[in-house]
Amino acid sequence: MIYPPVPHAEIDGNVWPALPGEKGQIVLSLLYQMDQSQWWSAEDIRTHQFSQLSALLSQAWHQVPFHRARLEQAGLAPPFDQLEQRWAAIPILTRSDIQEQGKALYSAHLPRGHGAVYDIHTSGSTGQPIRALRSQLALWFWSAFTLREHLWHRRDLRGKLAVIRDSTPGVSAYPKGSRYKYWGSSRQTFDTGPCVSLNINASAAEQADWLVRENPDYLLTHPTNILRVAHHCLENKIKIPNLKQINTLSEILRPETRDLCRDAWGVEITDNYSSREIGYMALQCPEHAHYHIQSEGVFLEVVDSQGKPCKPGEIGRILVTHLHNFAMPFIRYDVGDFAEVGEACPCGRGLPVLKQILGREQNMLSKPDGEKVWTLLSEGAIRKLLKLAPIREYQFVQKTQAQIEARFVVDRALSASETSQVRTWLAEKFGPEFEFTLTYLKELPRSKSGKLQDFISEVG
Ligand SMILES: [Zn+2]
Repeated sequence: MIYPPVPHAEIDGNVWPALPGEKGQIVLSLLYQMDQSQWWSAEDIRTHQFSQLSALLSQAWHQVPFHRARLEQAGLAPPFDQLEQRWAAIPILTRSDIQEQGKALYSAHLPRGHGAVYDIHTSGSTGQPIRALRSQLALWFWSAFTLREHLWHRRDLRGKLAVIRDSTPGVSAYPKGSRYKYWGSSRQTFDTGPCVSLNINASAAEQADWLVRENPDYLLTHPTNILRVAHHCLENKIKIPNLKQINTLSEILRPETRDLCRDAWGVEITDNYSSREIGYMALQCPEHAHYHIQSEGVFLEVVDSQGKPCKPGEIGRILVTHLHNFAMPFIRYDVGDFAEVGEACPCGRGLPVLKQILGREQNMLSKPDGEKVWTLLSEGAIRKLLKLAPIREYQFVQKTQAQIEARFVVDRALSASETSQVRTWLAEKFGPEFEFTLTYLKELPRSKSGKLQDFISEVG
C-alpha cells in the first residue's frame, strides 16, 4: 500500500498527482509544511513559534484593549523584540478571566484572509462554561492536525470509522445510531470511507452489539467508555473482526485501558490531548505511548507553582497559547490540566514531549495535613485491585480531608475477604490515615459530555 494515499481529486480527468478542491488544497499545504517541521530541531521549531507569537501579540495589542493592558504591565510593546526572554512576564489567562471579560476578549478586526468567525460554547469538566470565538484560519489548522493524527497512525482512510462520543439525548440512539458518507472534513483532502455514530449513553452491551453489527475498522471514543465496553466484550468473548485501532480523546487514558483493549480485541489505542476552545494540543507519537506537543498550532508551556518551566520528569500546570486564532487570542491560557514533561523522543521528531497528561487539579488528593498530591493510579495498582474482586468500574471521591468514598460497579456482591482485601488496597494506595466508605452502584455518574473521572476531590 502506498502511504499516505493520493489526495481526493476534484477536477474532471485529473487522477494523479491529484488536486483536491480549494479547502483540501489549503489543508494539504499545511500538512506539507508540517511533514517537514516535525523533524526540525526543538530550537528551530521554537524560533519559528516566536516569530508567529510576535504576530499574535501584535494583533492582541492593537485589537484587544484587555490584552494590551496586560502586555504593557509585562513591559512588552510592538515590535516585541526578544520576546522569548520576556515571555514569562505575560500574566496567565484563566477561565474566570474569560467568563468575566466575555466579548472584551474578542478582536475588533481580523487581518485579511483569516476568514469567517465561529462561536464555540464549552461546558468544560470544571463546571465553568465559557464562550469563545475561532476563525476559519484556526479551523484549517484543526483539520490539518486531524489528518496528521490519522497519517501518523497510518490509518487506512477508506475504512469505516465508528464514533461513540455524542451524549445528546435521542441523537444517534441505539439500536440504529447514525450514518455518514465520509469521515467529516478529512474528505476535503483525501478520499475516506463511511462514518457511523452511536450515542455514548448506550449500555456496554448495546455498544458491543452495535459494534459487532457495524464491524468498523477504527473506533473513536472516550477512555472510560472503551474500558467498560472492553470489559463486557472480554467477558462475553465478543470480537470485532475488522477493528484495527482505537482512538481516544477528552479524558485521561489509564494504562490498564490499553491492556484491556489488547486482551479483548488485540488492538492498540492511540490517544490525543485536545480541548474544544483550543483544538489539538498533543498527539500520541506514532512509535511510543507518550505525546508530542503540536508546536505548529500551539505554544504549550508546563510550569511549576513558581511559574518556572518544568524539566523532564517534573509535573506542572499547562499554559497554552494558540498561534493562529486571532479572532480571540488565547495567550498563556490555563487550560486547567497538569502534565509531566518528557525527554526528547527517540523517534527523531523535534516536537516536545509530554510523558503523561494528568488532568485537573480537581483530581489531586488532599492529605489530612493539607498537602496536595497526584493520585497516580498506575497500571500495576489498578490491575491488582481488579484481581482482588470482580470490579467492573471504579471511581474514588474524596469527600472530606479525612474521608474517601470508593464507588464500584461489580458483577456480584463482594465476599467479606474480598472487601477486606479491597480496604487494604485502598489504605496502601491513598494512605492509612483516611477513612474509606465502599459504595456499590449500578453505573457510575458521567458528566453531560459522557466523561467519567476516576478520582475526584470535593475538598475546597
Ligand atoms: Zn516520537
